[in-house]
Amino acid sequence: MNKLFSITIKGLVQGVGFRPFVYRIAQKYGLKGTVENRNDGVLIKVVSEKTLIQKFADCIRNEAPPAAMIDTVELLETDEEINFPDFRIIKSVSISEDITEISPDIAVCDDCLADLKNQEHRINYPFINCTNCGPRFTIIKDLPYDRDKTTMKDFVMCEKCHHEYTDVLDRRFHAQPVACNNCGPVYEMHIKGRKITEFEIILKTAASVIDDGLVLAMKGLGGFHLACDAMNDNAVKRLRKLKNRESKPFAVMCRDIVALEKYVEISIAEKKSLTSWRRSIVLLKEKLPFKIPGSVSNGLGTLGVMLPYMPFHYLLFEKIKTDIIVLTSGNISDEPIVIDNEQAKEKLSLISDALLIYNRDIYNRTDDSIIFIANEKESIIRRSRAYVPNPVKLGFNAEGIFAAGAELKNCFCIGKEKQAILSQHIGDLKNLETYEFYKETVNQFNKLFRVKPSLLVGDMHPDYLSTRFVNEMNVPKIFVQHHHAHIASCMAEHYLDEKVIGVSFDGTGYGDDGNIWGGEFFICDLNDYERVSYFEYLPIPGGDKVSEEPWRMAVSYLYKVFGKEFLKFNLPFLKNISSEKINLLLQAIDKKLNCPLTSSAGRLFDAVAAITGICSINGFEAEAPVRLESAIDKHCKEKYKYSISEIVCFNQTIKGIVDDVMNLVEPPVISTKFHNTLISVILDVVSLVRKKYNLNKVVLSGGVFQNRYLLENVENILKENKFEVYAHSKVPSNDGGIALGQLAIAAKRRELES
Ligand code: ZN
Ligand code: ZN
Ligand code: FE
Repeated sequence: MNKLFSITIKGLVQGVGFRPFVYRIAQKYGLKGTVENRNDGVLIKVVSEKTLIQKFADCIRNEAPPAAMIDTVELLETDEEINFPDFRIIKSVSISEDITEISPDIAVCDDCLADLKNQEHRINYPFINCTNCGPRFTIIKDLPYDRDKTTMKDFVMCEKCHHEYTDVLDRRFHAQPVACNNCGPVYEMHIKGRKITEFEIILKTAASVIDDGLVLAMKGLGGFHLACDAMNDNAVKRLRKLKNRESKPFAVMCRDIVALEKYVEISIAEKKSLTSWRRSIVLLKEKLPFKIPGSVSNGLGTLGVMLPYMPFHYLLFEKIKTDIIVLTSGNISDEPIVIDNEQAKEKLSLISDALLIYNRDIYNRTDDSIIFIANEKESIIRRSRAYVPNPVKLGFNAEGIFAAGAELKNCFCIGKEKQAILSQHIGDLKNLETYEFYKETVNQFNKLFRVKPSLLVGDMHPDYLSTRFVNEMNVPKIFVQHHHAHIASCMAEHYLDEKVIGVSFDGTGYGDDGNIWGGEFFICDLNDYERVSYFEYLPIPGGDKVSEEPWRMAVSYLYKVFGKEFLKFNLPFLKNISSEKINLLLQAIDKKLNCPLTSSAGRLFDAVAAITGICSINGFEAEAPVRLESAIDKHCKEKYKYSISEIVCFNQTIKGIVDDVMNLVEPPVISTKFHNTLISVILDVVSLVRKKYNLNKVVLSGGVFQNRYLLENVENILKENKFEVYAHSKVPSNDGGIALGQLAIAAKRRELES
């Protein structure tokens, strides 16, 4: 007998061509009914007999479009009687406060690239898209995902586009940003006081700006970029001057994977990431001898590379001569990336030779995401475009929890039932504009995802701006320890809800004894932690100054190990620092003046980078550890001595390093021996902990695990020793992932209290 069934599908099912897909399946089965977007998913109503409906539902589950991610398909039989004349896609109605997922932005697809050359109303149309590709999160203002809730609202579809939009058999059926040369957004170029609106001329001019070694500011998907020819050393150096960015490596965009292979090593896993629809920046090893000017990556030997993802990128590469362009975020030093046309005219015109804008607004700012591959798996360094707002599924209920994140590399997170929705990378909150971006995005997320926070969670650090933000709100709140949150973040990713061994290594985090932690071994679960071992405390002479002057940490370690004796060693890095300055530093250590104590692993990297002469002054954040890693010589298997008890002591390591430096051992060898030492320390400590506490799961987190050599080797050696090892893959191991851990801890504590 025919009955009315309702089928609710939850997951990432909006903005990915889901309703037309359902329509086609319904046609195939000859079913009558309706399909509509609800803000809790997609709702289908169909009348038929049960076995057929079952088949229909299975087909939906098994044959869904590529970008869709189905969580649940709920089939319900009702007693209602409705007679449908046919099968229809009907208008979205908001019905509840539950929200379905929003698709992140998707790189232009191959079908659209083909249309770019042969579809008459879209020849070279730079905003071409379809249900399988195009902007999503960056243009969405509210839910449900329909054109009038996006920044496409003001563009009225022409007849042709409207026909495609309403033709179920068309690839652009209900593609919300659908547009063409006759009706959609357009580019506009500003150069030397001239305004160009003809696209052919814009494209030609943009190409000549790049070819001539000049700087082009152009509006991207989630914000503006600054671009120049990466093979032109002078152009790159000039861009550095203009942007006031002396040494931080630039990301590049390469025309295609074939061209890219000339410059960098690409593994199978790396190729897969490079060509995926996310189009992240992937960190890759440069081939020897280096062909790309050193000014791009500053001699690191690694290059952050992405492939084209907007139609305009492809069109530009058709015209320019170079294979590779620098594509760096369009901002002034540490400010958020510019998204607004007027702001771009005001700010970016001053630091570029030509400005390329378009008249569709970017509503949600996103930076390019950055990843690297370790042991064939993706590790995220910066989670933004094409990841956000994909939620992280949780094993617990986090409804109504707001996690404020840390301060540097901030990213916050909100709980929605059993999922965590992480914001895009926000940045360093100490920057005024970035803090504004933070507050604005919190509001946008609360609105978009219908969240009214009932529990807030922040870092224990009293001075973090994110902590202050939490404190300003009149809602129940808790504060959690930084490194516990790191471990909990990785646990949440892997649905771990038990006692584990946590290894949390990073640069800085506020400890519960008021000292700065960062080389921590915990026994912990989501609720609580016990600090079972940590790196020996050392003073940081000058406190925060160490972030620019890692050599201060070298002095601290050397003084502790050798006393004033070390001044006679003739270590290369000491030659650049006046003896007066060093004496002042030693006095400060003696008198404990502005010398906070730290157990940080990051600071140990600083010390070693300086002692080996690899890096004693940072030109960009964490340059010292990055350079130390890039110096690694994989053939070296040796390590230094150390001692472990409750406290891990590196006195013998430092002695060994100093001996090697004095004996003129090559810095790459010293760097590798040091890395091997840390790997060995981790194995030794967790082995002892396993014995004592009978735990076998090891969770790795903290910014130090962005070090690929360390991460790969620690994972491998622990697995060889029969540990179960968990590292991050869905969120960054650095402070950009910490909000997820804060959320997990808060959810657990709330659950235990109730
Ligand atoms: Zn497409
Ligand atoms: Zn049109
Ligand atoms: Fe941290």
